[in-house]
Amino acid sequence: MQVTLWGTRGSLAAPGPETARYGGNTSCVGVRGREGTVLVLDAGTGIRRLGATLGASVRRVDVLLTHLHMDHIQGLGFFAPLYRPDVEISIWGPASSRLSLRERLMRYLSPPLFPVSLRELPCNITLHEVPCGDVDIGEFRVSSALVCHPGPTVGYRIADACGTVLTYLPDHEPALGASAFPSLPRAWTSGGSLAAESDLLIHDSQYDAHQYLRHVGWGHSSLRHMLDFGTLSEVKHLIPFHHDPGHTDDDLDRLMGEAIADAKPGYRVTPGQEGATFEL
Ligand SMILES: [Zn+2]
Ligand SMILES: [Zn+2]
Repeated sequence: MQVTLWGTRGSLAAPGPETARYGGNTSCVGVRGREGTVLVLDAGTGIRRLGATLGASVRRVDVLLTHLHMDHIQGLGFFAPLYRPDVEISIWGPASSRLSLRERLMRYLSPPLFPVSLRELPCNITLHEVPCGDVDIGEFRVSSALVCHPGPTVGYRIADACGTVLTYLPDHEPALGASAFPSLPRAWTSGGSLAAESDLLIHDSQYDAHQYLRHVGWGHSSLRHMLDFGTLSEVKHLIPFHHDPGHTDDDLDRLMGEAIADAKPGYRVTPGQEGATFEL
């Protein structure tokens, strides 16, 4: 599979000269299979550029939303395939205890927040609520499970027919409530079963150690927690993702360098950079 990072920023788009290298667009990752299956992970502002790359031959797109915080859906109305009547779009995402996925999405995709309502879109849309166990989407087997983050939030594990696994956990605080994280076995740790032995793990890396102490319970990881989670999960390659909007490129270089030197992970780490593509 081919994995492209279209938005790596967390919480709020942060364009500007000081974020040009790692990127300012919010969460969006494109996945393409060898047989042409197209998955889109989250619909942050990065989805606009992804949409522009999908040619006329693409007739089905599956958008997998981890949750409905604004930084993960803000680009949805600007995703070009939504305006093509010849495209089938499946949107997967969590309902809440009170509202269906459709009702939750319509809060954004309706006036006054957005001029076009969900039902007016010309494409053929189907909504699917997650988590829903393992499902086959084109050539991929996709698993979803609830993870530790405010409000209903899932992570996704995506496997191809060769057994290659990508796990996507952009907003995730596995250390919350664990006295000496990572003290519990993998199966008892949030996201642990999803990420187990992944070939590539894309994971929340929002805070440095000091920031984390001021934001316990906000649903994000420190760089050290992310690296420890990668070790616990026995991943082969990890991409720090969902960068804090206040971190400049130079801040990220320094913070990642310090965290990696300190934790000495036994696997490859490539800080998430907008536009980067990985072949798995
Ligand atoms: Zn987020
Ligand atoms: Zn969030």
